[in-house]
Amino acid sequence: MSIRSDIATGICSCDITEREKHPKVSSYYGENLFTDDVMKKMVSEKTFEAFKKWQDTGVVINGKQADEIANAMKEWALAKGATSYTHWFQPMTGLTAEKHDGFIGIAGKTKVVEKFSGNKLIQGEPDASSFPSGGIRATFEARGYTAWDPSSPAFISEVELGKTLCIPCIFISYTGEALDKKLPLLRSDVAVNKAALNLLKVLGHNAKQIFSTCGPEQEYFLIDEAYYRLRTDLQLAGRTLLGAPSPKGQQLEDQYFGSIKERILNFMNEAAEESYKIGIPVTTRHNEVAPHQYEFAPIFERSNMAADHNQLLMDIMKKVARRHGLVCLLHEKPFAGINGSGKHLNWSLADDKGNNLLNPGETPEENLQFLTVLVSVIHAVYHHADLLRASVATAGNEHRLGANEAPPAIVSVFLGEQLSTILEQIEKGEIKKVKKLDTIDLGVGLLPQFIRDTSDRNRTSPFAFTGAKFEFRALGSAINISTSIAVVNTIVAESMNTVAMMIQDEQKKNKNFEAAVLAVLARVIKQTKNIQFEGNNYSQEWVDEAKRRGLPNEPSSPEALKAFIKPENIELFEKLGVLSRVEIVARYHIWIEMYTKILEIEARTLSEMVNTQVIPPAFTFQSDVANGLDMLLDYSEDKSIKMPEGAVDDRKELFTEVTEDILYIRKNLKKLTELLKKAESTELEDKARIYFSQLKPLMEHIRKHVDDLETKMPDELWLLPKYKEMLFIC
Ligand code: ADP
Ligand code: MG
Repeated sequence: MSIRSDIATGICSCDITEREKHPKVSSYYGENLFTDDVMKKMVSEKTFEAFKKWQDTGVVINGKQADEIANAMKEWALAKGATSYTHWFQPMTGLTAEKHDGFIGIAGKTKVVEKFSGNKLIQGEPDASSFPSGGIRATFEARGYTAWDPSSPAFISEVELGKTLCIPCIFISYTGEALDKKLPLLRSDVAVNKAALNLLKVLGHNAKQIFSTCGPEQEYFLIDEAYYRLRTDLQLAGRTLLGAPSPKGQQLEDQYFGSIKERILNFMNEAAEESYKIGIPVTTRHNEVAPHQYEFAPIFERSNMAADHNQLLMDIMKKVARRHGLVCLLHEKPFAGINGSGKHLNWSLADDKGNNLLNPGETPEENLQFLTVLVSVIHAVYHHADLLRASVATAGNEHRLGANEAPPAIVSVFLGEQLSTILEQIEKGEIKKVKKLDTIDLGVGLLPQFIRDTSDRNRTSPFAFTGAKFEFRALGSAINISTSIAVVNTIVAESMNTVAMMIQDEQKKNKNFEAAVLAVLARVIKQTKNIQFEGNNYSQEWVDEAKRRGLPNEPSSPEALKAFIKPENIELFEKLGVLSRVEIVARYHIWIEMYTKILEIEARTLSEMVNTQVIPPAFTFQSDVANGLDMLLDYSEDKSIKMPEGAVDDRKELFTEVTEDILYIRKNLKKLTELLKKAESTELEDKARIYFSQLKPLMEHIRKHVDDLETKMPDELWLLPKYKEMLFIC
């Protein structure tokens, strides 16, 4: 056992026995949420109607109505014990932002009163010069505005010593460009609504409104806080930049769905409780594949709520973990050699009556609407796989996609056996009946017959149909899901418009309505066939096959991000009103810049850790080995001592290995410093390319030698917590 084994706190730092007993969830769910129901009771009927109209049609409420709602919100928040409010928004940092103000106004020389106005509710002007804007906003004209998003209810965030009313907002520049993640998402929902309503109309169906729905499955790691405090890399880069593999990793497959440790379950219970209070419907939780890796998943919601809630859940998880002496790691690859963390984005479309447009129904082959929507999604993925890939291109996620770890960076669609067969039949123009419900007979009379899901599972597919929804699985665990949702909505809207047009054209030639639709579907299926893949996406065969099919496979984030600025893609976003050219170019710059900054932080952290925490004890060890070698050499001259043959050579070998490690580490650290220095005067895109192709391999090289030293040096000389400790002591 190393000295570090004892430092893990091993227990919850909060006093669990003192904490509230968990009451029935339904009795407190959403208690910190200013819901429509709460508002309805507190404002006049007319004002409430105006508010609903704003939500439904976008006609903004007037100043008086805003004042009335602000007052109601204030009264509600004060009654809950809040003292401050904040506009809560999602700038391009990928995190959330808040700037608090007290509910106070001066009421006399030494007096204040609680105050809040419609103006302050609807619009804010954070001094926002330090948010990334990609050049949209020069620092000298630092104005950015936050504007209340009425589709996401205000909520109260609590800490032990106070409460704050949080008002979900969008964030825009003085000239109205989106500076955040949320506005494009909201606009993409408008685009998909329009396109889907049009497609349904062509198919002879009617709906009032269609919106996207979303359920993100959040993966994460938890480690003991004591170890975190000793790892500069985890603190500054979110991932370990060094660390030899633990002899036991995930080989035994004993973590996935394993029984959840008491300390972890306490964390999960408290995180769920905090989520429920503000109306986040988390439900599924389990151990994931890697040691100390877990997952939390909610019941799906409208996309914009799901996006807000996922950001809030990540925040809650980080905060609650600390109360339990744990740290929640959301990085995509906190530990090398074991699974990283992703975030499966379950996506579908629903109408105002709650009907799911991707619901296959009883007999899928007869369900024309379902098939048309399904084929439109396939069409979208086929034509815009590059945008989907770009939407998940971050420095962290790069360690998963196409790197040392599956899944690859190739986007393909999985449909499952039954649907694939149906599409094949449509393509060939020969529709047969498909078995309605497959059941599995277990051969044991006492057990219920199993209904086989019509969509079989393929866990390796990046874009899989998993029964009534698609699951986009390439997202990284730390990412804000809004960009991916906006991309999916946008490309599906575009494809729905295309398919609707094709059907209308076909109908002119083909009077039989069903035959016309099927003819179009057959054509699209044939044309987009290359994007369908039912096999193992993690295999080398698929990488080779995808190459033959001409599918893009881009492991580099900066290269993948270029999809956003392709002229045809800019045109697509502009046409559908999701992002303007200026906004896209700005975003592209922000993302590339973010990538380079993250890599610089990582490289500098690595350099500092190696110089101050690895090399000094390595020198000590090197001397120890040298002294031992001297001793052996002395003794070997003394004929009275029997020296086993090879003893001196063996010690020489160890000395050479250690000296080599130290030499290569120091040599490469020098190269790394030079590379960073040179990059200072390099143009942004080139810098990103150099970091991907040169800096990252250099860091890996240094790491290899450091990790080698770790396995050779005495435990008491090694200063950093090891994988076997961080991942197995808790
Ligand atoms: P898994 O895919 O892991 O088997 P589930 O099928 O239960 O798990 O669902 C995973 C996630 O998909 C959940 O968050 C769930 O709410 C979400 N989901 C289910 N139906 C839809 C839908 N129609 N639209 C969006 N998300 C959905
Ligand atoms: Mg999962």
